[in-house]
Amino acid sequence: MPTYDFTCKSCNHQFSLFTSISGKKEAKCPKCGSQELTQRMTGFLYAKSGGGNNSGSSCSGGSCSGCSGC
Ligand SMILES: [Zn+2]
Repeated sequence: MPTYDFTCKSCNHQFSLFTSISGKKEAKCPKCGSQELTQRMTGFLYAKSGGGNNSGSSCSGGSCSGCSGC
């Protein structure tokens, strides 16, 4: 299960959640309860260590179709 890092737009609180794709839609700030979150997925370690599906281990600026973080 991937880890998602969130930054709350309301209070700037940063937190991480272990959640599913569907679960992240309901993610909210544990501090102020806002759902205005900036989301960043950090669960890509498994892709690198797993000998992966992609030969390019680093994103080259938006050309990676599987990466929402670049
Ligand atoms: Zn907040």
